[in-house]
Amino acid sequence: MPTSKARTTKTKSSASTRQSRAQATKNKAQSSARSKGKTQAENGASEGNTQLDKLFTDTLKDIYWAEKQLLKALPKMQKNATTDELKSAIEEHITQTEEQVTRLEQVFEICGKKAQGKKCAAMEGLIEEGNEIVEETEKGSMTRDAGIIMAAQKVEHYEIATYGCLVTFAKTLGMDEAVELLEQTLEEEKETDEKLTMIAEGNINQSAGQEEEEEESDEEESESEEEETEESEEEMEKKEK
Ligand code: FE
Ligand code: FE
Ligand code: FE
Repeated sequence: MPTSKARTTKTKSSASTRQSRAQATKNKAQSSARSKGKTQAENGASEGNTQLDKLFTDTLKDIYWAEKQLLKALPKMQKNATTDELKSAIEEHITQTEEQVTRLEQVFEICGKKAQGKKCAAMEGLIEEGNEIVEETEKGSMTRDAGIIMAAQKVEHYEIATYGCLVTFAKTLGMDEAVELLEQTLEEEKETDEKLTMIAEGNINQSAGQEEEEEESDEEESESEEEETEESEEEMEKKEK
């Protein structure tokens, strides 16, 4: 029996850098698009004129815009993060996001459509929320990291929902190649979400819980009302005891 070349080449060096992986994804996507060049119709799927086709394409445009915005927002989040652990997790996700953009371009190609973004109001809001958290937390604090993680997880959850639906739509439309690409991204978003949870629970949340609140004047604005509430809460606690 001849030796299987495929088996030996399968054991790839684990030392490959992130950059080369990103390039590999790009090359794979490009060559796959060129050699296969199949449109949805050629793949035996619907003709591309159904309402679901339109919803699929519109959602692709939405998440394409969102991923591109994230490529601008993530480096800022990384810069503002306190711990090296969070900084490197964000860095890794920036590389993944670049690959995800390439995969989306590949899916557009499979659909026979030009890669095009359409403003995603939700992602715009989520990014804005992330910026607010940075503004409202102290530089170099663990609380800021806890906040950045929360903002990032909100983004991941939006992405998980979107890619989850895109996978389901692509399956329904019989676009096997697109299903595979979108599933890869879906997995990365889920892994990122889990990793962020682990980082937060590692010690960031714990340390943030020990950081004293800065003295802020805007808290005193509604002082009388708040004092009343605090008093009655204390009283209730005493009664419970
Ligand atoms: Fe993404
Ligand atoms: Fe959206
Ligand atoms: Fe993501």
